[in-house]
Amino acid sequence: MKFIVCEKPGVLELKDKAAPLKSDGEALLRIERVGICGTDLHAYQGNQAFFTYPRILGHELAGTVLEIEENDQGLKVGDQVAILPYLACNQCPSCVEGKTNCCEHLQVLGVHVDGGMQQLINIPIPYLISANKLSLEEIALIEPLSIGRHALVRAGVEESACVVVIGCGPIGLGILKQAQLMGANVVALDVNEARLAFAGEQFGIENTFLVDNKTLERCRTCFNGSLATVVFDASGNKSAMETGHHYMRHGGTYVLVGLYKHGLNFMHPELHAKETTLLCSRNAIREDFIAVMELLSSGLFPVSKYITHQIEMKEIMTSFDLWIKPKTHLIKALVKF
Ligand SMILES: [Zn+2]
Ligand SMILES: [Zn+2]
Repeated sequence: MKFIVCEKPGVLELKDKAAPLKSDGEALLRIERVGICGTDLHAYQGNQAFFTYPRILGHELAGTVLEIEENDQGLKVGDQVAILPYLACNQCPSCVEGKTNCCEHLQVLGVHVDGGMQQLINIPIPYLISANKLSLEEIALIEPLSIGRHALVRAGVEESACVVVIGCGPIGLGILKQAQLMGANVVALDVNEARLAFAGEQFGIENTFLVDNKTLERCRTCFNGSLATVVFDASGNKSAMETGHHYMRHGGTYVLVGLYKHGLNFMHPELHAKETTLLCSRNAIREDFIAVMELLSSGLFPVSKYITHQIEMKEIMTSFDLWIKPKTHLIKALVKF
């Protein structure tokens, strides 16, 4: 079977190896689609800290069951499945509390262990979710959209919320659209005009603003003179993350969804005066996946707009070099396996 491995930064290779043998408790899957996100591109560029090579990338996965034993979930051969790529120990205190997304010994497929850029893969059955009602393209979007869903749930966003999302990449757009569908009043911020235009024109986000010295006043105009009840950072950018709470009203919540690999500085009095609830949001849990599957079945999420690029497996080596260029306007690329 064919697989693609990131041998070292800048080098992706298409290789062949024997098909894996299934162990008890696992299902053998054929990988159908792999979504590409910032994590994969950063790993390719070599700026993903703590990343080890060689590594088979791929954590946004749609598969078909080829072999499976009797199981509690009723999964059977031929089923289309989503894969929860967060392999948890199920024993540490956070796992026991149901927070498998931040397990103390978490192993994410395609990050800490080899992922889904291979034609066949064995996955423990509890990490599979039957998704026969969705298309393969939709199934590959469940993971990235669940990241946003998890952050929204953590922040308790509901209809009355005034939400600012900083960063209109794939994660930010997922948060914006899901918050808008919940009935929240949403504002999108970015430093990139093309991304703001995309959020406005393709995703129907009415209030999109460049970050400059007028942004704060523009937010106030949108929120009846006040600021956001919840601010999400989906930029992963140091200065954006250090200042994002400026858009939050007193008593509000600031959620860091993007990841910055070094230290951040905050003026404590600024956070303290607002009695800020500061949250991080990491990965997602099964309930987030289920909720996103319902959203995708509803047809309300603009799937065809979100998927900006689709390629075949053999094109991957040349595509990564194009996608890392900002002018590509990549939101979500899917690789057909
Ligand atoms: Zn991803
Ligand atoms: Zn654990």
